[in-house]
Amino acid sequence: MSPIRKIACYLTVILLLNCAVQGELLWMEDLYAAQTLPEQNTRSEFEIYRDTMELIWEELQWFPVPASSSNERASVAFENTWMAERNYGGKRSHEGTDILASLDEAGYYPVVSMTDGIIEQVGWLEKGGWRVGVRSENGNYYYYAHLESYIREWEPGDPVKAGDILGYMGDSGYGPEGTTGQFPVHLHLGIYVPLGADQELAVNPYWMLKYLENKKLTYSY
Ligand SMILES: [Zn+2]
Repeated sequence: MSPIRKIACYLTVILLLNCAVQGELLWMEDLYAAQTLPEQNTRSEFEIYRDTMELIWEELQWFPVPASSSNERASVAFENTWMAERNYGGKRSHEGTDILASLDEAGYYPVVSMTDGIIEQVGWLEKGGWRVGVRSENGNYYYYAHLESYIREWEPGDPVKAGDILGYMGDSGYGPEGTTGQFPVHLHLGIYVPLGADQELAVNPYWMLKYLENKKLTYSY
């Protein structure tokens, strides 16, 4: 073999080895990206969710309907109806828990805030009737719907303490402003947690209510 051929051969081998090593590195990079990126994303979302749920359990103080000290027939009951079918306004799933009243009388049962927080939303919603939404200090949203009336004229930004009366249980909603009587008196409770930018996740309040069942204020009504 001529010296020039030898050098050409040598260079070719070096080049091929180089390509092989670089190709390997690229392939490893792909593998690394494939393995780590989705995992990192899932982990951070999971972490947000886990931390938020922990904060919910920490901030819950009172069952939203106090016990009555003066009328033993006045009680409430609730079941786990998470994602059960609802038909008003098109087929949809139930994003909350309904607390049903033993006495079907609008304006009878007080509704209290389960947490400290500030009033964020107040007023009429076609599906929710007279509703009030409380944003807790940890950023979670508590939605109390179908009220008969408010204890006072709430304004967004008003602070509330856990146990403060927000209004009275009713049967408002499922129609234009002022519609009542489309269903039995009950409180619809929804809980929403923030999941990063502009995203909210509805969580099942049933378990929180179960937890709070033995944490009821007692009012005379
Ligand atoms: Zn409901």
